[in-house]
Amino acid sequence: MSSINEEIEALKKSRNAVVLAHNYCRPEVQDVADFTGDSLELARRATQVDADVIVFCGVYFMAETAAILNPSKMVLIPDATAGCAMADMITGAQLRELKAKHPGAKAVCYVNSTAEVKAECDMCVTSGNAEKVMKTFASDQEILFVPDQHLGGHVSNMLGRTYELWPGYCPVHAALTAEAIAAARKLHPNAPVMVHPECAKAVRDAADERLSTGGMCAFARESDAKEFLVGTEVGILHRLRKENPGKAFWPVNDKLVCPDMKKTTLENLAASLREIKTRVVVPEEIAVRAKRAIDAMLKIS
Ligand code: SF4
Repeated sequence: MSSINEEIEALKKSRNAVVLAHNYCRPEVQDVADFTGDSLELARRATQVDADVIVFCGVYFMAETAAILNPSKMVLIPDATAGCAMADMITGAQLRELKAKHPGAKAVCYVNSTAEVKAECDMCVTSGNAEKVMKTFASDQEILFVPDQHLGGHVSNMLGRTYELWPGYCPVHAALTAEAIAAARKLHPNAPVMVHPECAKAVRDAADERLSTGGMCAFARESDAKEFLVGTEVGILHRLRKENPGKAFWPVNDKLVCPDMKKTTLENLAASLREIKTRVVVPEEIAVRAKRAIDAMLKIS
């Protein structure tokens, strides 16, 4: 074990800390984490943590979600500038304005949103549970879905319903094209293509499976296929390969890299534990309201 890994292990013990990492983090960060998962898996895990400190390796909205679910624990993020371009595409004020134009509508946010936006919503969803959660609304209920137009579009197609979609998107997944899928299929004709629902409709339609990263892991585990084409941020390839040593995983586009997800390094993770920084604090008035939307989701999924 390298000296920095040893230091992180020792600090985890002395601080009574647990390290949670998103599937898109650097491989070496995933390897020192106590738990690696997608947003749904991490949100669930954050409710079960028996530690004084949670270090969240991922982007800011995820650490905020962990802080909202654990008001009595200290949540740290190794690099507080790790944001999400999609989450920043709508503000609480913009959502309030939209709600004012649609009285009676229910506001639903993808978990990739700020705490301020979650506080304005009736329900939260992740890419791993959106279909199941959205099914619980009456078919004639007007829905405002923010911020991801693609996840919202995917679920509305699956359920045959129409939502008012905010025009947000993930710039990383926007770089994936149906042409890239066609080219990758020529190289690996036996590999099923899995893409993330944050991809555009033409890309989702060109794929075989539309799955969250946690869903991709389950599909890869259960499938008889020996190789897979993966259309999402490349960080997931590490977990897929680690969990399935007898199978091969190819990125559809190896340039799908989220710069914010790569901001957590072993060095700033160690510094975060050593110096107890940077603490993520959500103002109570926002946290209480945001928690309602997250709890409503966790109750269903
Ligand atoms: S991959 Fe996209 S949605 Fe995920 S954190 Fe990066 S910018 Fe946000």
